[in-house]
This record gives sequence, C-alpha cells and structure tokens, in this order.
Amino acid sequence: MSVDSYIKPITDRTVIWKTTIDDRPQSNAGAIALGDYIIAIDPSPEAYTAPNFRKDIEEHFKLPVKYLLVTHYHGDHTRGVEAFKDTIILGSKQLYKKMKNEGKQFLPEIIFQDKLIIKNADSSVEFYYAGGHTACSTYAYFPKEKVIFLGDLLFADEFPWAGDKTSNPDQWISFFEKILDVDFAYVVPGHGPLCGKEEVRKQLKLLNELRDNTLKAIAEKTGPTGIKKPLIYELTNKSRVTRTMQFFYDFYSKMK
Ligand SMILES: [Zn+2]
Repeated sequence: MSVDSYIKPITDRTVIWKTTIDDRPQSNAGAIALGDYIIAIDPSPEAYTAPNFRKDIEEHFKLPVKYLLVTHYHGDHTRGVEAFKDTIILGSKQLYKKMKNEGKQFLPEIIFQDKLIIKNADSSVEFYYAGGHTACSTYAYFPKEKVIFLGDLLFADEFPWAGDKTSNPDQWISFFEKILDVDFAYVVPGHGPLCGKEEVRKQLKLLNELRDNTLKAIAEKTGPTGIKKPLIYELTNKSRVTRTMQFFYDFYSKMK
C-alpha cells in the first residue's frame, strides 16, 4: 500500500491536507489557525493518516490543535478521531447521537444545533448545521480569509455521493442556494480539489437536474434505471451513481 499525503496552504491561516492511497484520492482534511491554537476540520481519512495530519498542521502553524470539527459520521471522516482524543471535538447534535449509538469511543464534547462561533485573538470561526449529504452534516466558515470548509456537502469535480440513507436532497439544494450568498473565495470540499463558488453552482445544477430527472422517471414509472444521469462531471463512480439514483427514486417516491 502506498500512502501519499501533503499539506497545501490556502491563505495565511488556512490549509488543506490531501491524501492518496494506492493512487486513489481520499477525503480531504483542513485546518484554521487562530491566535493561540488550531482548529482542525475532519481528522483525515484513516486512523493511520490522522497522526501525520496533526503533526503537519502543528508544525506548519507552530501551534497546538485545540478543536476538531467532525463534519459528519462517514468512516473516512471519523476513523482518524483517536489522534485528536486530547482535543475538544465539535459536531452537530445529530452526529453526537449517531456516534453514541454506534458505540464510538470519542464523541463530540461541544454539540451545536444550528450555529457555533469560536473566537480567539482577533478572529473567529463559524460552524453551522446543514444536513443534506447526511442528517448530521455541518461545515465551517472562516470569514476573515473567506475560506469555507464544506466536508462532503461538496464533491468537487465529481458526481457526489448522495445516496446515504439519512441524506435529504431538498435540504442539500436549499443549502447550496443559501451558501451562494455568503462571502467566500475558497472552498475546501470533502473530496476533490480546492475550488471556489463556481463549483458550488455547478453541483447545485447537478442536484437540481437529478431531482427533476427523478421526478420525471417517477411520473413515467420507469424505475431508478430510467433516471437520466446529468452529464456535468466526467468523473463518475458507477456504483456511487447507481446507489444515488436509487436513493433519489425512493426519496421522491415517498414524498408523492
Ligand atoms: Zn460523506
């Protein structure tokens, strides 16, 4: 197995941490440095990558990590949590419940319902609940340097994984519509390259098309295989698309 990870500065006080395992790109992690400490966003994809992620950001900023935001419950965003067990874990109320039910050892200590703000020195980081990708999905925003960390609310340059059983496509679409009014220049997606607002617009277009095509397939009783796939991204994982289509079909069938 070959693991390749690296840190890439975005602005003065933010970074993205990328990982590839056997040439396959994995989930992203990120970090924001305030005056006295670092806030990590997701622990990196694996239990064995997380200690390196932490070491890299602490060396880069010459500060300790004080908080870790876990954006949602998926394994590639939670397996590395142990490397941050001495920090304060942040997450939504739904994430706390989910992780507790799954018997996870390290649970969020600061739990928020809609919004949480952490201030230090001359700046602050805002955390918000979104839902959408999963019922527990949250994101972080650093207004001072216009950087937003979306977790898996955004799959940049690829067809998104929108087939989780707790996913809510309508909530996801409204989230994208709302977030486009926020002042940000850089987006750290859960997967894929660092990007900007244009990518959010593109993915919103995809979810809207997928919803319309699903409603059409339901009306015509074609089953999920009859849903026309939006041709927005070249990079599509076949099983991800199939499971997402099935989920959309079931989700919108139930709503009728
Ligand atoms: Zn996910």
